[in-house]
Amino acid sequence: MSLTFEALGNLFRKPFTRKYPKEKVPVFRRFRGKLEYHPKKCIGCKKCVAVCPSVAIRFIRKGKIEFNLTQCMQCGLCVDTCPAKAITWSTDFETAGSDREKLVVK
Ligand code: SF4
Ligand code: SF4
Repeated sequence: MSLTFEALGNLFRKPFTRKYPKEKVPVFRRFRGKLEYHPKKCIGCKKCVAVCPSVAIRFIRKGKIEFNLTQCMQCGLCVDTCPAKAITWSTDFETAGSDREKLVVK
């Protein structure tokens, strides 16, 4: 197809860009977004703390752990290691902001 035809064809195609943030970008099922902590499932074994290479996990007590996403490099070791499946990935990738407290998952 010549360049002119391609350019004309594009006039009638839907745009490839999205109106983010109004229109959310779809993410795939195994996407690594923000970590999620499920305190009721936690058995307090501290394996997540031991395995985290970024020292991003603060253990307070069983069912009360903080994950500091400003330090987390999303390696997934805590998710894979947790025997109780108390840590999972969400599909939420919107972590930008000016409040650091919002980046602590409790
Ligand atoms: S994903 Fe990796 S860096 Fe982030 S909290 Fe879990 S073990 Fe630590
Ligand atoms: S590895 Fe899982 S069960 Fe063990 S303390 Fe961490 S979150 Fe709780």
